Order: sequence, then C-alpha cells, then structure tokens
Amino acid sequence: MITCQEVVEHLMAYVNNELAVDERAALDAHLAVCPECVTFLKNYEQTIRFELAAFEHPEQIIEESIPESLIQAILAARAKKTE
Ligand SMILES: [Zn+2]
Repeated sequence: MITCQEVVEHLMAYVNNELAVDERAALDAHLAVCPECVTFLKNYEQTIRFELAAFEHPEQIIEESIPESLIQAILAARAKKTE
C-alpha cells in the first residue's frame, strides 16, 4: 500500500490522467481506504481551478477542512512542482 505522501506527490498526474495503469490502480486502492485523501483529492481539483487565478496566494486557497498533515504534503508537492 502506498502512503498518503505518495498519493499527494502523484495527485497532479492522477488528475491529469498521466499515470501508468498500475500507478493509477495503486492510488485508487489507497483512495478506497483513506477518506482523508479522497477529501484532499476533491480540494486539490478545486485548488487547480483556483490556482489559475490565485497561484501566488496559496494560503488563501487551502481550506480549513484539510488536515494539517495534508497541508504540509500539499506545500511539499507544490515546492517540488516548481523546482
Ligand atoms: Zn491517504
């Protein structure tokens, strides 16, 4: 089973349908047992839409419903993405 961190790291590719079949299956398997990641995925898709207009102010996009651990994961993934 992959970790929440790995889900976060691959979420963009997941949303964009860029994952290999086995990678996507691994994420789906995790999402099936991890409500936090399902919530995160929904918020992430929303965030992508917001990002188009507010990329420079991510702190205004992150909703309070996201667990602190996932907020940290978002920030880590965001930092990675902009490398
Ligand atoms: Zn998870």
